[in-house]
Amino acid sequence: MPQNEMEKEQAYRALPKLLLPWYRENARILPWRENTDPYRVWISEIMLQQTRVEAVIGYYERFLRELPDIKALAETPEDRLLKLWEGLGYYSRARNLQKAARVILTDYAGKFPDTVEEIRKLPGIGPYTAGAIASISFERAAAAVDGNVLRIIARITGDFRPIDDPKFKKEITASLEAVYPAQGRGDFTQALMELGATVCVPRSPRCDGCPAREVCAAQRLQAVERLPVMPEKKAKRTELKTVFLLECDGCIALTRRAAKGLLAGLWALPDLDGALDESQALLAAENWGVRPQKISRMADRSHIFTHVIWRQTGYHVLCARQDERFVWADREALEGEYALPTAYKQFLSR
Ligand code: SF4
Repeated sequence: MPQNEMEKEQAYRALPKLLLPWYRENARILPWRENTDPYRVWISEIMLQQTRVEAVIGYYERFLRELPDIKALAETPEDRLLKLWEGLGYYSRARNLQKAARVILTDYAGKFPDTVEEIRKLPGIGPYTAGAIASISFERAAAAVDGNVLRIIARITGDFRPIDDPKFKKEITASLEAVYPAQGRGDFTQALMELGATVCVPRSPRCDGCPAREVCAAQRLQAVERLPVMPEKKAKRTELKTVFLLECDGCIALTRRAAKGLLAGLWALPDLDGALDESQALLAAENWGVRPQKISRMADRSHIFTHVIWRQTGYHVLCARQDERFVWADREALEGEYALPTAYKQFLSR
């Protein structure tokens, strides 16, 4: 039985009192929580999209060491930026960071804008990130509603609407913003994030130790496992690819991907559509003018993107000629200079 409106409102109102003391006692120590400078909060929030906290920490620290402020980010060469991002995936995030840093330098005299409305105008910043920065760095009553917060609120309020319903998200944002406390707004945003990350997790939430348990409708209605109602998953498209590790004099051939589409403009190993057999692969290498001497099949790999799965056949080809259509990178350059997406980098492990 869904909750009535009054019960929902009471639950919302109770949240700051229940969550703030719990957060202040239990928050994990994370490098981006050391200070609430908007640049630091912004970088961490963008990195954390689609990536686990444990994986982000090392990237975050390295990024901040090399690009400690907006100016450094705006001025760094794109290849260097992408190298710092290598392995995090979704490279448009890094490019948008730089675009936004340049906008802040030119339109805001290098000072991070401090309202949700202004922050949202920056490239690559949606309502979630804008809410996070505005509340954590500027103490605004701005909610940051992502999948975690949708899940928590669907459970607490006993809401059985699918969580991808845009109306649901809009309502949750408004209802949360109406109960933001006068003080500790950034902590309230982080408390919700922390609850979703450590207690009210997708499967088997830890209700026994939950600070919101007393107002949680899902708990009361024994509906925890049925909430939130997830949207139907769309099947991913599968594409077959053949990837070439062309090696000549200790160097590997790299090529730039097309400026549009998946992994746009990034460095890549040469690849072709389809799963080529060995003779087809050899012919392709000959046509590239690299004078293949020896070809061997590598272990098949796959890589999952948001909407597509690549099933990759790989060949290692020893070549006698470095054709100019490719950039030939030695080990040092591969490690220090060129950012190679994981879809390709996984073939270098041999
Ligand atoms: S009581 Fe359980 S379901 Fe309810 S908010 Fe807490 S962890 Fe989530």
